[in-house]
Parts: sequence; C-alpha cells; structure tokens
Amino acid sequence: MATRKAIEDEASKLLSRTGVDSTGPVDPVAVANELGLKVYNATFADEGIHGLIAKRPSSTSIYVNVNDRPVRKRFTVAHELGHFVLHLAAGEGEFIDTQDNFRTVQDPDTPWDAPRRTEWEANVFASALLMPKDAVLRAWKEIADPEGMAAFFQVSRQAMTFRLDSLGLLE
Ligand SMILES: [Zn+2]
Repeated sequence: MATRKAIEDEASKLLSRTGVDSTGPVDPVAVANELGLKVYNATFADEGIHGLIAKRPSSTSIYVNVNDRPVRKRFTVAHELGHFVLHLAAGEGEFIDTQDNFRTVQDPDTPWDAPRRTEWEANVFASALLMPKDAVLRAWKEIADPEGMAAFFQVSRQAMTFRLDSLGLLE
C-alpha cells in the first residue's frame, strides 16, 4: 500500500526520467509516449467509460473517450499512467475506468476495499503528475486563485481545488 508521499515521489521521478517539462502544465501524452505507450481516442460501447489501459507483452495502450473534453482527457491519461507505474509494473493487465473511479478522493486512512484504494492511488498519482508541487507553489504566488490555477494547469476546477488543499494552500 503506497502512501500519498510515496506516490508523489513516483510521479516526480517519472517526470524527471522522461524529461517532460514540469515547470508549468504537464503533457501526460508526452509522458506516455516517452515510456513507449500509445494513447488513442476511442469510442466505447459504454459511454460511462472515460478511459482504460491495457498492458500486453508486446505493447501498452491507453484509450480515452473521444467525447470527453480536453481537460477530462488529460486527467484520464494521467490516471492510467498511475495504474501503469503503480499497479502494472509486475506484468500484464488492464484497468477500465468509469466516472466512479475518479471520485475516490476520501481519506486513505478510512477502511475501504482494495479496488477503491487502487483507484485512489491512481488519482493521487494523476494529481501529482499534472500539478507538480513545485510548479503549483510557484504559480500560486502569482495567480492565487483556484479558477486561474485550474486554467493554467489545464485541469478541472475540482482537481485543482483538491491539489491546492492537499498542499495546504487553501484555508
Ligand atoms: Zn483507474
């Protein structure tokens, strides 16, 4: 079970390792491509699916719902990268993500089952990847407003608010 701190470190290490610019908004597709993963727009039979990752012996692919807004797609790709780094390192597998999987933002100390915990970890990873701590702290000095910060980092207002709160920047 990875702690928030350990997950933050994994996201940070991945950004350094791939060399993708993390001083401002991060491009999660560039990170995926640096890892050799392909990212595709997809039409799912179930419109409730936002994305999935499938790791096979020959290649790993991420699919995002073609109908989602760009901000939504960015978070989905980052979330799937979280599964790749945290949950698929040992071998093949796949994760299919519906809206519910992106809502797991509760206190990790609350008892909950392993699948929800896994989704929470992927969300923490996505948050840290798209909103690197140092970049957020720097931008906050100038912008100091959740709405403006969300626009700058190209994330949802909700994702930005959670991130600012987790970094202790909100009252
Ligand atoms: Zn997931």
